[in-house]
Amino acid sequence: MPPLLLTNISQLVTLRGPAAPRRGRELGEIAIIQDGAVLCSGGKIVSVGTRRESARDWFLKSAKRKVDEIDCRGGVVLPGFVDSHTHPAFAAPRLVDFEKRIAGATYEEIAREGGGIRSSIDGVRNASRASLATNISQALAEMATQGTTTVEAKSGYGLNMEAEVKSLEAIRAAAQRWPGTVVATLLGAHVVPPEFQSRRKQYLRLICDEMIPAVSRRKLARFVDVFVEQLAFNSDEARKVFATARKHGLGTRAHICQLTPAMVKPLLEFQPASLDHMDYVSDEELPLLAESETVATLVPGANYFLAANRYPAARKLIDAGVAVALATDYNPGTSPTTNMQFVLSLACTQMKMSPAEAISAATINGAHALRLGDRKGSIEPGKDADVAVFGVRDYREIAYWAGSNLCGLTLLQGNVWTADL
Ligand SMILES: [Zn+2]
Repeated sequence: MPPLLLTNISQLVTLRGPAAPRRGRELGEIAIIQDGAVLCSGGKIVSVGTRRESARDWFLKSAKRKVDEIDCRGGVVLPGFVDSHTHPAFAAPRLVDFEKRIAGATYEEIAREGGGIRSSIDGVRNASRASLATNISQALAEMATQGTTTVEAKSGYGLNMEAEVKSLEAIRAAAQRWPGTVVATLLGAHVVPPEFQSRRKQYLRLICDEMIPAVSRRKLARFVDVFVEQLAFNSDEARKVFATARKHGLGTRAHICQLTPAMVKPLLEFQPASLDHMDYVSDEELPLLAESETVATLVPGANYFLAANRYPAARKLIDAGVAVALATDYNPGTSPTTNMQFVLSLACTQMKMSPAEAISAATINGAHALRLGDRKGSIEPGKDADVAVFGVRDYREIAYWAGSNLCGLTLLQGNVWTADL
């Protein structure tokens, strides 16, 4: 593939800066180059600067090699979004639940009638690996079309050995067909499945003694996730899962403080890459989080879809120095969206993040939430050529035009992706 030059960029939002998660005021510093250009080669970013610099400099002139040029038509260029929290391994949308919730049914009522997560578990257990992979591929394609180039993808609707492994195999198969980057996570500890309802200790043993060792041995996931919540697992159980993950060389992350408060300190000692949701994190724990390398990943799509009357306290977290990321939480029960632009809109309107802060949280801090900050999340020489081109003049428009897809072209590790594909 010849080198690729992106040029005619009104605002090149580079996010260049410290090689660490962005905190406090840094989150709003997105390092824009006006009238920019980016040169990519071999799937990596080679040079970043103004268009004038690109014409004068770089190896364009000297090498006299053929360079493919992409005219960005005065648009805005960002690092590709890093969607660091998704659940794409499911069989079908939950449309009946959707209507029931609209009509006023509660979570418990829906669950009692066989809906909720139960229906997704049945769906995944009965689905073939190939059909799950097809669903995941469709989601990844939508994501690329909307500017996302790196995706964390969890299992978690199989909840037995066979169906969790099948889900991770489906994620791997879809990842191999997609030019972007997929980071797989085992979420065997999503909830206790129905057949273990009165034997939760045995289910935990199944996760720790069988699932984690097998997934680690087969390199099917890089992370292990736990849903810490009254209706799922408590923090002692989460610590057991984390300790096992660590023993088997896997990273850790958790869903926590989504519906009810919980202490994050018992988990922080495992240095999880990310703690996600964080709607009910206590103020007293914010200094601890701020000192840690753990990213707080906020997923306001879930608050939106569940019509929650509150959103995560992003301002408080940012002002306390906590590293904050944004993700879709794409899943069939609580956040059926693949669109990071929509998440930016929610972050700005509902959580009072500035557009610049939201962009940092959706790119560089998302990369750190996956421990990929050295490769992803900013447009700097040496990093992967993951870039999204938007048909707007000002980066703030990406969070402003709610519900649209403004992305016209995406580079995934140097591979060009357009919406027509
Ligand atoms: Zn989730």
